[in-house]
Amino acid sequence: MSSHDCLFCKIISGDISATVVDQNDDILVIKDIHPKAPIHYLIIPKIHIKNIQDLQEENSRYIAKMMLMAKKLSQKLSGDQSFRLIMNNGAQAGQSVFHMHCHFLSGKVMNDF
Ligand code: AMP
Ligand code: ZN
Repeated sequence: MSSHDCLFCKIISGDISATVVDQNDDILVIKDIHPKAPIHYLIIPKIHIKNIQDLQEENSRYIAKMMLMAKKLSQKLSGDQSFRLIMNNGAQAGQSVFHMHCHFLSGKVMNDF
């Protein structure tokens, strides 16, 4: 299921280019175009789910797949393998692209919250 006016669906389909870091049948990982850390990836399920509010029991497995991809990405980091995951759900929480995704941030000390 995809949405024609969704940026991440267009990146998944190849209509819009992005720097792909990793992918499998269910998940695409790209570099964020405006990085907020030395390493800033976006972990994106290859199915159009708006956010966690839109998550259903039948597609909830994508959350586990996103976390397993985060584990894989961390194992490929050189040096410290610490990372932070952020999911913005809803406009007031800072979500700007309404296709569920997880920010993977690493490469610097992140004491702030
Ligand atoms: P959010 O604000 O949580 O919805 O996150 C959306 C993220 O997508 C932001 O961090 C943007 O910098 C990033 N972004 C927007 N357009 C692109 C693009 N074409 N390629 C890669 N990242 C993008
Ligand atoms: Zn989408």
